[in-house]
Amino acid sequence: MTSADNLKPLVDLRHRLHEYPELSGQEKKTASLMAKKLKELVPDELITGIGGYGVAARFNSANPGPCVLFRAELDALPIEEINDFPHRSKNSGISHKCGHDGHMSIIYGLAQMISNERPKQGSVILLFQPAEETGEGARAVVADPKYSMLKPDYCYALHNLPGHPLAEVLIRSGTFNCASRGMIVNLSGKTAHAAYPETGVSPALALAELLQVFPGLASTVNKNELLMTTTVHATMGERAFGTAPADAEFMVTLRSETNEGMDLLVAKATEQIKKTAADYGLKYEIGWTDIFDASINDLECVENVARAAKNTAHTVCWLPEAFRWSEDFGAISASAKGAMFAYGAGEQRPQIHNPDYDFPDDLINSGMSIFFDLYKQHLL
Ligand SMILES: [Zn+2]
Ligand SMILES: [Zn+2]
Repeated sequence: MTSADNLKPLVDLRHRLHEYPELSGQEKKTASLMAKKLKELVPDELITGIGGYGVAARFNSANPGPCVLFRAELDALPIEEINDFPHRSKNSGISHKCGHDGHMSIIYGLAQMISNERPKQGSVILLFQPAEETGEGARAVVADPKYSMLKPDYCYALHNLPGHPLAEVLIRSGTFNCASRGMIVNLSGKTAHAAYPETGVSPALALAELLQVFPGLASTVNKNELLMTTTVHATMGERAFGTAPADAEFMVTLRSETNEGMDLLVAKATEQIKKTAADYGLKYEIGWTDIFDASINDLECVENVARAAKNTAHTVCWLPEAFRWSEDFGAISASAKGAMFAYGAGEQRPQIHNPDYDFPDDLINSGMSIFFDLYKQHLL
């Protein structure tokens, strides 16, 4: 366990990270700070620039054994902080509203503990991944040729979660976070003078149909799992009374419990767009963005987390169903046995992505203790 004296620098690190947040894919300074600090711990390998600005430190033993990866995220959000405490964000319009500053401090604190008590078998990787918020970072890390040199057998991550008792461990096996993806539909017809709309092709009725049909579309997919289609944005034409519109944009978030469910939902949504566009004589284009795989927890890893939580005097809450929100850790846990757990951030704390949210420093030491127990289970 870390003493209070050792803990202060980790709280200071968290505050420093909070002061200088960077957006997804732009985490250059955050990554170089973490790389510099990890280097001081003299890992056997330090890999930078993985999947973008990702950083990974590896500690090896001289003996065969599994490779275990622990993950933190480097990125912050495009949200203006409304807090006025001394460590408030100094980067205008950007702040750590998902607690990734706290996750980084936990994984760095874990690296410190590991550097003092190196693995007796196998190896351990501390990964600081970029661009979690856009769903691109973990996939880019896994696709990076450097990742094949890391090849973990097991992977673990936590995400803090306000609305639950401080330091409660929430876990389940199977799907932990749903898959999701953004669908951008562009419809195009032909403008006309507003006095002669019959000479043009307006997307208005097609857009009205999509707005009506999409909320219920998921229920028409024949698969027994949570499937959702949430309309998030719709726009049409110009703010001009003289012109009947030609173009419309329609955006929907698709969500599913499994990746197979997502495939079916994508097919159903695409089919609907195709049909509506044809019925109203419109051209269409469909774009996809913010693609998150389902994050699937392995039973053995979930049991390891529950054991680690028990060994470190944490309360465990077994979740009856998956969280609807997405996490790109699914891309990493698809490449190795893994488990992600949610870590209670206090019932009264503002929700993540709220402008007044701040990571609770009390979770740093206790979060490290859970991961260190997992490290001991596998490698000591
Ligand atoms: Zn997050
Ligand atoms: Zn987030």
